Amino acid sequence: MAPLDAAARAFEPEDGPRVFDPEAGATEEAAALNARYGHLDTPGIVAAALAYFPGRIAAVSSFGAESAVFLHHLAAIDRHAPVIFIDSGRLFPETLAYRDELTQRLGLTDVRTVGPPADRIDRLDPHRALWMTDPDLCCRIRKTEPLIRALDGFDAWFTGRKHFQSALRAALSVFEADGARVKVNPLLRWKAADLAAYAERHALPAHPLASRGFPSIGCVPCTTTVRPDEGVRAGRWRGLDKDECGIHLGLESDGSGI
Ligand code: SF4
Repeated sequence: MAPLDAAARAFEPEDGPRVFDPEAGATEEAAALNARYGHLDTPGIVAAALAYFPGRIAAVSSFGAESAVFLHHLAAIDRHAPVIFIDSGRLFPETLAYRDELTQRLGLTDVRTVGPPADRIDRLDPHRALWMTDPDLCCRIRKTEPLIRALDGFDAWFTGRKHFQSALRAALSVFEADGARVKVNPLLRWKAADLAAYAERHALPAHPLASRGFPSIGCVPCTTTVRPDEGVRAGRWRGLDKDECGIHLGLESDGSGI
């Protein structure tokens, strides 16, 4: 794959690599990173974060409808960077197939599929109906807890979140503290039209459900199609007072005990 930007690949961070001060915490560090690198374009942010957290940053991807654009940027700079994919056990089969297709197409070499241990599901969700009675607990055991385990050993992680996706996400910064870790959001300023144009320009494969009315794709029981006049995440947990699965609500404060 051709590099997005040769300068980005040769990026030398002014402040890194990271020397973490637990006393100061990640909040001040994230603010400093925003001041230093938050204005960069997406290749610049990805390169800066990879250089600042060498070997200590992973991407977390749902391999959903908009995932290809970020993964294409990552692969162009470092296709060996770890990518964590959470298989909750309730995903659409199309998502699993898309993970495999995109991994091969982009040449990603370290996609790590993680999920809940069977004994925990057997104990807490034996009938696979927990999403109906306690969706927060269901998300916690199927998504948040596996992610916490997968991020052990990493200081930071990339997300693919964008400002336009929801009111909650509209307030995000490029670098944000998540406990002792830093979350990096290189695509925040992209619009839906930018993503579509980029995907077309680079001939990126689309998620098979994207053209069938699913602009945001999660688990089968908690994802519906959306109407053209609705927000892109309107089909996620439709009818519930719930906008996020929990992995973006503070991994170390969700009470999972891990
Ligand atoms: S999105 Fe639904 S099915 Fe998936 S983990 Fe959360 S509550 Fe469970």
